[in-house]
Amino acid sequence: MESVTCNHCSNRVLVEKYSEAHTSIQWLDDADRVCPEFARARTAQEGRAWIPTCHKLQQTIDDLIVSGQIGLSLRSYPVPGRLE
Ligand SMILES: [Zn+2]
Repeated sequence: MESVTCNHCSNRVLVEKYSEAHTSIQWLDDADRVCPEFARARTAQEGRAWIPTCHKLQQTIDDLIVSGQIGLSLRSYPVPGRLE
């Protein structure tokens, strides 16, 4: 997996791109604590929120993919239910 740092909040995550449609993001820390955008979204939705990702982080990752810094993974698709 590639280590990616969010341009916006400096949170670091691990990213692996399996296909055009599927990019796996693994958070290394509690998202609420390390990412202001995540924390804000949760507060806005009264604590029960789950947002897929920080949009700033998503943008960061998209930029890296476009610039070729993150390529397609050669690993097989992860087994459903496993985090890695
Ligand atoms: Zn962020």
